[in-house]
Amino acid sequence: MSTLEIKDLYASVETKEGRKQILKGASVTINSNETHAIMGPNGSGKSTLAYTIAGHPKYLVDSGEVLLDGEDLLKMTVDERAKKGLFLAMQYPEEVPGVSMTNFLRTAKTEVDGQAPAIRTWTKELTDAMKKLRMDPKFASRSVNEGFSGGEKKRAEVLQLELLKPKFAIMDETDSGLDVDALRIVSEGVNRAKENTGLGILLITHYTRILKYIKPDIVHVFAQGRFVKTGGPELADELEETGYDKYMPEGADSE
Ligand code: ADP
Ligand code: MG
Ligand code: MG
Repeated sequence: MSTLEIKDLYASVETKEGRKQILKGASVTINSNETHAIMGPNGSGKSTLAYTIAGHPKYLVDSGEVLLDGEDLLKMTVDERAKKGLFLAMQYPEEVPGVSMTNFLRTAKTEVDGQAPAIRTWTKELTDAMKKLRMDPKFASRSVNEGFSGGEKKRAEVLQLELLKPKFAIMDETDSGLDVDALRIVSEGVNRAKENTGLGILLITHYTRILKYIKPDIVHVFAQGRFVKTGGPELADELEETGYDKYMPEGADSE
């Protein structure tokens, strides 16, 4: 059993107008085999939370802690965090022209595990995983995300998740821009990862529809840079009814 603890995290970004604090005391603890849905209005800092935990250099930690099994992730480089078992599925995955999906995945797997995967089992695992995600085998030889549709990029993120087998995955709006079929296929991939490895999941979403496929154990409302409410799956139903208005500052727009 592993634990990811985020303790009273404050973080800022450097903007043209100066340094702006986005995270304002975010705290949450996730265990293996738990799915936490983080729901909140646009601009509340959900992606900032994801990037700060993963170690994006643009996001500057002001104070607080991020611990994986008691080890301080904030002292580690991005690749060290990945080796410890942290995975981020990005809201807007980057295109990497000139690097093929197979090369990228094999290199990442080798780095994360500290040794190259056995070629025969690896090839089979890759082929099987792509098949289950209904990805055309041709994608293996294409450059990472280059010219992929929105849905294909999200499948590629889940493919990485299934192959790299992290302890914790932050899924940043993996559902956005997916049609119903793609949503189901992508969700099944996340569910497989959880079943196979006991993955702990931080599922960031703006909408409740993905929660029909990926059942959360715990639902959080995230607003203005911190967790403002925590409940069970019924909290998601309540949000569907009421929206985020009551969690917003006066006069703000929840979209
Ligand atoms: P969410 O994911 O909840 O929609 P974000 O974390 O993307 O929210 O953004 C939170 C706030 O921080 C927004 O006001 C956004 O404009 C600002 N912000 C985030 N990243 C940057 C950045 N790199 N530069 C400037 N402002 C940023
Ligand atoms: Mg947003
Ligand atoms: Mg976001």
